[in-house]
Parts: sequence; C-alpha cells; structure tokens
Amino acid sequence: MKHSAGFVCFAGCGERYALDEVIYRCRACGALLDVEHDVEALRDRSAAAWMTTFERRWMRTEWPFGSGVWGKREWVYPGIADESIVSFAEGGSNLLWAERYGRSIGLRDLWVKQCGNSHTGSFKDLGMTVLVSAVREMIRRGRSVRAVACASTGDTSAALSAYCAAAGLPALVLLPKDKVSIAQLLQPLANGAMVFSLDTDFDGCMKVVQSLTEDGGIYLANSMNSLRIEGQKTVAVEIVQQFDWEVPDWIVVPGGNLGNVYALGKGLLLMRELGLISRLPRLCVAQAERANPLYRAFVAGFERYAPITAARTAASAIQIGAPVSIDRAVKMLRATNGVVEQATEDELADTAARADATGMYNCPHTAVALAAVEKLVKVGTIAPDERVVVVSTAHGLKFTEFKRAYHEGSLEGVTSRHANRPIELPADVDAVRRAIDARLGG
Ligand SMILES: *Cc1c(COP(=O)(O)O)cnc(C)c1O
Ligand SMILES: [Zn+2]
Repeated sequence: MKHSAGFVCFAGCGERYALDEVIYRCRACGALLDVEHDVEALRDRSAAAWMTTFERRWMRTEWPFGSGVWGKREWVYPGIADESIVSFAEGGSNLLWAERYGRSIGLRDLWVKQCGNSHTGSFKDLGMTVLVSAVREMIRRGRSVRAVACASTGDTSAALSAYCAAAGLPALVLLPKDKVSIAQLLQPLANGAMVFSLDTDFDGCMKVVQSLTEDGGIYLANSMNSLRIEGQKTVAVEIVQQFDWEVPDWIVVPGGNLGNVYALGKGLLLMRELGLISRLPRLCVAQAERANPLYRAFVAGFERYAPITAARTAASAIQIGAPVSIDRAVKMLRATNGVVEQATEDELADTAARADATGMYNCPHTAVALAAVEKLVKVGTIAPDERVVVVSTAHGLKFTEFKRAYHEGSLEGVTSRHANRPIELPADVDAVRRAIDARLGG
C-alpha cells in the first residue's frame, strides 16, 4: 500500500484537503487543520521494521537522512520529492543525562533533549524544514508562491529565514519591536529576510500576518499551519528511540502558542497506534506566570479558557496570551493525563542559574520547564525515581541579554542569588593568587 497523508478538519466536520493546497483553516467551519496519515498503509511495516528503518537511517549522510525529521519521512510527508526537501540536517539532537542538576532537585533520572542544538538554535528548525520543503513541493507541482511569511517571538523567524534562504525563496518576518533578543533579530537580517519590527506584541503581529496571507499569494508559516507540527512530532519519536524504544514517565515542554505539545502528543499517539510503544508518558506544559492562559484553564479543569494579554517575561518566546493551538494542547494533555505548571520570573531565573552551574547553558524557556519540574517534584506529582525528559527548546547562547542581566543583578522581578561576576585585577600573579585563595580557601 502507498503511504499518504492529507489535511483534515481538527473540529471533526469531515472536510479534507490535499497537502499541496494553500489552506490553514477548514473552509466549512473555520477550525484548524490536522495532517492525517493513512495509518493502515503505515502498517505495511511492523513496529520492529519501523524501528530498524529509523535506526538504519539515524544521522547518515545519504540524502535526506542526515535529518532526524526526514529519516522518518513516511510519517511526516509521504510522497514528497527528494529535490523539494530543504534541510540543514536538523533533528538527532543530543539527549543528555542531567545527573548533577537532577540530583540537586531530587531526581535520579532527569534528561534534557537539547533541541536548541540545531542549525538556527531552536526546535523550530524541525517544523520549518517540513514547511519550506512543502512550499518547494507546491512550486514543483506548478503553484506560484510569492513569499513565505510568519509572525514570531524570535525563533520561528530565524528558522523561516534560514530555510527560505537555502531554498531561494523570499521570507517576510513580523517581529514585536524590542521583544526579541539581539541574536534573534540579527538571524533573519543576516539571512536576507524582509524584517518588520512592529510596535505591538506577538499576538498583534499574528493578526497582521493572518491578513497578509489571506489571499494565498503569500504563504503563512506559523504553527497554525499543521505541516510544521509533522516535523516537530519527530522529537517524541527521537526521545523514545534514544532510550532504545523505552517510554519515559514524563515529557516536560515549555509552551507558548502550544503547537509543540500537540506535536509531541501526535508523535506519541502515532507510535502507539503502530505498536512501537504500548504506553504513553505524561505530558507537562510549563508556562511563564506572566503568560499563562493554559495554566489558568488547567486550574479550572479545562472547563474555562480565556485568552489574556501576556505580560513581559524573560521567557520571551512564550510571551503569548492567545495561543493558536489551545484546543490541540488540551486534547493531548487529556490523552496523556498531563499537567500544566507555571514559573515566576524569579523562579525561572534562579533555576537557570543553578542548572547552568552544573554545566548546562539554558535558555529562559527551558528554565521555565526545569522550574516546573522542581515544583512538581516538591509536591510529589513527579516521584524521585521517575524518568523525566525536559525538552530544551532553544540554545542559551541566543539569550545573552538574559544571562548578562541575571549575573549583573538587573533582571526585573529577580533576585540574583547565584550571580557570578568577572574579577577585574591588574595583570599581577600575586593578586590573582590571593583572589583564588579567597574563593577556594588557601
Ligand atoms: C516557539 C518556542 C516555544 C514555544 O513553543 P510553542 O509551540 O509555541 O508552544 C518555546 N521555547 C522556545 C525557545 C521557542 O522558540
Ligand atoms: Zn471543519
């Protein structure tokens, strides 16, 4: 049987569309779309055969299997032509045992999936390789696309710009002015994108880009576009694969627009359907207290949800008050007996500093997830012997201003208990020795 996939209406009204159509919402009811795979066709290989296939392709140079995403191509975008694929060998990121930090918070089996160790420094590469490849596939099949556009909190725009530059496609990125890091502003500029710095927040940029892309000439790259979810869901498969196909007890992810938690859930459910795993981990979404609409809904038992105006947080990539994928997230939290936890500015900054002091270098969003783990261990929701995987969403080096402000003691709402400052001295060995003795004891 031939593998295939298409868009279906997420609200279940039964509408279907081809993957090469320019469409983001159901024409009948306005709901988001979902990429649905022909699971029966995927059963042409046994679970064991899929595992062997994925193992054999893992991190090879043979095109396009150097990519962790395209190594799972039949589960992502079946039938796409090799020459349409735009890849920077994303995926396959390291899954590290955070032994010393884990012990310090009462966990023996804490792991961090380093999705920030990627071409543009965040997990957004995993979705963007699929989206930009899909645009190329549309063009190959005769469609015309003038440009690809996104609103962003800084990482989607970096990924879109890089993949479009590699494909020779014009990229348009809409950023909230002064709400992304310098690195995140420079990445799309360097890659030649048209960068708009708008006097609003992310939610305001999202409104503008939705209008811009309405007529279909400019293609929308935000995660309401479910093609990106297909790439991001491979993280769930990678985590299980990296544990030799054992399922961890928890997967914890920082959430903003909430596409990523949905993607993780999709990957897990597909693995279960195809028999690669027999149980699911519990999912946890971690939010900044200043941008916590999902947390509020969780506390209300998912009976009530209301978008909010997100306040400024150091975790700027998740400063989102009206998440597009709210329903998708709730679905996966329900399916996995999941929870939502939040972290204040002080908690996230303090956690980042303590975790960094064990050798990590965390972005503020990953720190929100680590802080959530600490809180869940304290209240006993996570048991000391459970295997916990934190999805690190971006590289800490993209957030230099955050690190600097912390260690200078100038982060708003934060007490820098673990600040470490350079010791400025004349170039005099005795002065240096005295400083060492003072710190380490003589
Ligand atoms: C995009 C992003 C998130 C949030 O992912 P969602 O899918 O929007 O929930 C978290 N952390 C970083 C670093 C991001 O770039
Ligand atoms: Zn519909």
